[in-house]
Amino acid sequence: MNLYLPEKINVQGEEFRVYLTQEEIQQRIKQIGQNLSQKFQDKRPIFIGVLNGSYIFLADLMRYVSIPCEVDFLKLSSYGDEKVSSGEVRDLKQIDADIKDRHVIIIEDIVDTGLSMKYLVDKLKQYKPASLTVVTLLHKTEATRYEVQIDYTAFKIPNLFVLGYGLDFAQEGRNLGQIYIQIEKEEE
Ligand code: 5GP
Ligand code: MG
Ligand code: MG
Repeated sequence: MNLYLPEKINVQGEEFRVYLTQEEIQQRIKQIGQNLSQKFQDKRPIFIGVLNGSYIFLADLMRYVSIPCEVDFLKLSSYGDEKVSSGEVRDLKQIDADIKDRHVIIIEDIVDTGLSMKYLVDKLKQYKPASLTVVTLLHKTEATRYEVQIDYTAFKIPNLFVLGYGLDFAQEGRNLGQIYIQIEKEEE
């Protein structure tokens, strides 16, 4: 595959540089996929991807999962087109699947303040799944203010804005093949 992998990129007038390479991401996702395959053998888990940011992560992760499973999606909004969380979560699309008594694995792109994940876990628990597992590609540990369940984190990252590999800035940058971090002004 010929991925889009520039060293630096300017999006909406802001500079970003590579932070996690394609190889680092794939290696880590493979580990998590294999781990989930062992843990959920014979459980037919249902992966629930949180749109839009998680779609590439979910697509790659699922191809390292070697057991029968299902997939569904929901959509939340907390950021709009801004670089800071709005502090409010909205449901933009609900799941179609009936998850009662099912083993549910939530797939999220990034946990920042933790508000979205807390909202989501509380909401899905109301459907009485057999189990609920949270997988996030990225976690801004220093930014997290809500008490939030996370079972698998692919990468812990500093409290800076990132994009690429599904994550956007004002809807741009999702097609980048790796993860980019904002260059702080001092670094320039
Ligand atoms: P939280 O509710 O944890 O504050 O924010 C979660 C959502 O905000 C994520 O699912 C993601 O959509 C967005 N978000 C948080 N930090 C970043 C970031 O650094 N880059 C991008 N592109 N989105 C982010
Ligand atoms: Mg998200
Ligand atoms: Mg976004």
